[in-house]
Amino acid sequence: MYFNARNKYFETLPVENTPIWLCTKEGCKGWMRDNFTFDYQPVCCLCSSPMASQMKMLPLLVNSNDDLKSIKKGIQIKSAR
Ligand SMILES: [Zn+2]
Repeated sequence: MYFNARNKYFETLPVENTPIWLCTKEGCKGWMRDNFTFDYQPVCCLCSSPMASQMKMLPLLVNSNDDLKSIKKGIQIKSAR
């Protein structure tokens, strides 16, 4: 039982090397996921400096997004009735 619970815990926290944009200004912690950027090079939302693309280990958000979608669907069906 303990073993199963542990495995499930790790399955809910998948981490992947994710492309991100990182602020080039020294000391600034501004960064964003590549998902949220556009075709052109973005600027930092904190200091408006140019940003450089890098890789960062981040937890995947895909699973939680799917959960939210299915929850929303359930609410929509209920309210439609
Ligand atoms: Zn910045």
